[in-house]
Amino acid sequence: MQKNDEFEIKITDMTDEGLGIGKHEGFTWFIKDSIVGDTVLCGVTKIKKTYGFARVIRIIEPSADRTEAPCPIARACGGCQIQQMGYDAQLRLKSGKVRNALTRLGGFSEEEVDRIMEPIVPSDDIFRYRNKAQFPIGRDREGHIVAGFYAGRTHSIIPASDCLLGAEENRIILDSVIGWMKAFGLEPYDERSLKGTVRHVLIRKSRASGGMMVCLVINSKKLPREKELVEALTECCDGAGIRLMSLSYSPNLRDTNVIMGDEYVTICGDPYLEDSIRLPDGEKIGFRISPLSFYQVNPGQMEKLYAGALEFAELSGNETVWDLYCGIGTISLFLAKKAGYVYGVEIVPQAIEDARENALRNGIANAEFFSGKAEEVLPHWYEVHAADKDRGARPDVMVVDPPRKGCDEACLETMVKMQPRRIVYVSCNPATLARDLRYLCSQGYRLTRVRPYDLFPQSVHVETVVLLSKLNTKQHIEVELNLDELDLTAAESKATYDEIKAYVLEKYGLKVSSLYISQIKRKCGLDVGQNYNLSKKEDAKVPQCPPEKEAAIIEALKHFQMI
Ligand code: SAH
Repeated sequence: MQKNDEFEIKITDMTDEGLGIGKHEGFTWFIKDSIVGDTVLCGVTKIKKTYGFARVIRIIEPSADRTEAPCPIARACGGCQIQQMGYDAQLRLKSGKVRNALTRLGGFSEEEVDRIMEPIVPSDDIFRYRNKAQFPIGRDREGHIVAGFYAGRTHSIIPASDCLLGAEENRIILDSVIGWMKAFGLEPYDERSLKGTVRHVLIRKSRASGGMMVCLVINSKKLPREKELVEALTECCDGAGIRLMSLSYSPNLRDTNVIMGDEYVTICGDPYLEDSIRLPDGEKIGFRISPLSFYQVNPGQMEKLYAGALEFAELSGNETVWDLYCGIGTISLFLAKKAGYVYGVEIVPQAIEDARENALRNGIANAEFFSGKAEEVLPHWYEVHAADKDRGARPDVMVVDPPRKGCDEACLETMVKMQPRRIVYVSCNPATLARDLRYLCSQGYRLTRVRPYDLFPQSVHVETVVLLSKLNTKQHIEVELNLDELDLTAAESKATYDEIKAYVLEKYGLKVSSLYISQIKRKCGLDVGQNYNLSKKEDAKVPQCPPEKEAAIIEALKHFQMI
C-alpha cells in the first residue's frame, strides 16, 4: 500500500478527535470525515508501520447516523469535526470518550464507571449557540481581505464570517471592520513577514441584553484610525439594530499563536460586557466580562453545568469552599450564595478584577479572590494559614475547573493536604481529568459521580462534572487484596513487590509494605490494580507512605528500570 492508493473500508470505531477507524489487510486506518457505520472508498494520505491515514473519496454506504452537514465548508474548516453526525450519535460518541478516558487512563473498572456515570446532558441549541467568536483576519487566495479560518497548513484564509455556531451579528460586524481597513489602507497581519496591523477580531454577545462586545487584536501598541473605526462600527451597528456595548483593542506584538494580548484599551462604550446567569432553581447573578476574561461560550449549557457543579457540592450554608481556576467568579459567586465563605483563584488578573467587581455588584461579601497560578497561590496560602487552624486550610469543598491541561501536580498535592470532604472537578478534557482523578483516588478520595455535558455540539469536545468524596479517616483499614496478584501487568513486571521490598531493606535498612510500593508506583504513573489501596469500607484510613520510604522505593523502581 502506498500514498494515493484507494480501497474500500468499513468504519467500526472513532477516535476522540473524530477520525473514523477501520481495519484493512491487518492495518488500522484513521479516516478523516468518516463516521462509525460508514463504508467508504478512501485514498491513502500517510502510512506508518502498523497504521495509516486516509481521506474519504466517496461514501459507498452511509452510516445510519450520518446526516448532511449544514455548513458548506465544514470539512475544510475542521472547527466542527462531527457536523456530519446526527446529534444522538454525537452524544454517544462524547459519553464514550469520557468512559474510555476513565477506564483506560484513569484506571477505573468498566463496572464502576458504568455504575456511576450519568447520561450526558444535551444542548438545547445545536447551532448558533456560541456567544463568542475569534476570527483571524487575513487574505484569501485571491488576495482579498477576509475574516475566516486558516486553510490547512497554508497562510491564506478561507472566508467564513458567518460561522453557523456563532451569532448572526458577527458577519455584519466583521464586514464593517474589513470596510474600515480597506478605506484606510490597513493591512491584515501576515504570519510570515510579521507585518500588517489587524490580527483577530473577538466578538462576544450577551444573551441577557443582546449587547455585543468587539475587540480588535492588533500588531501594534496603538490602534491607527481609531476615531474612524468607532464611527464606522457605531454607524453600522445602529443601522443593523445591533447594540454595541463595548469596543476595544488589545495589542499583541508576539510571534506566537496566542490570540489575545496582555492588555486592552477601550475606545467606545464600557470596558466590559454585561450578562446574567440564571440557574434552574431561579438564582440569578449578573456578571461583567472584560475582553481578556474567560466566559463559557454556550450560555444555556453553562447554566446547566453550574447547576450540576452546585448540586455536587451539596452545600448547606456554612461550608468553606475553594474555587480554583475561577475566571470572573461565575461558579464562585453561586457557591457563595449557598456557603459560608468562598475563596477563588485565577491566573488572569483582569478576570480577578471582574470577579471582585461581580461580587460587589451582587452584594456578595463572603467571597475573596486571589490572582495567580492555582499551583502557586494555593500551596503558599496553605503554608501560611495551616498552622493558624484557619478554616480555609480545612475546607469542606473544593471546586476545580482547569484548562485543557488539567491541574498542576503542586495544586493537586496541596488539595490532598487540605483534605476537603468533597472535590467537584469540572473538566473540558477527559484525558487530563482521568489522570488527575487517578491521582486523587490514590490519595484517599473515591469517585462518586460523573456527569458529562455537551457544551460544544458539532465538535468532539465534551465537558464533565465529577464528584470525589473523601474516604473517612477515623478508622484503620485492613488491605483486603493480595497486591502481588492483582497489580503486575506484563509490561512492567520487571520486579515483584517482594524483590522491591528486599532491595529497599538491603540498601536502606527500611521495611516497606506492598501498600506503600503501590502508592509510589501509582504516583510515578505506573499501572497498578484499580482501587486496591482503597478499602471497600467507607470508614477507612489509608496509611500514607512516609517521605524517606518513598525516596527508597523510587530508587528501587529506578534500579529495576521501571521508571
Ligand atoms: N470556572 C470559570 C473558568 C474556567 S476556564 C468559569 O466557568 O467561567 C479555566 C480558567 O482557568 C480560565 O479562566 C483561565 O484563565 C484559568 N487558568 C489557567 N491556568 C491557570 C492556573 N495555572 N492557575 C489559575 N487559573 C488558571
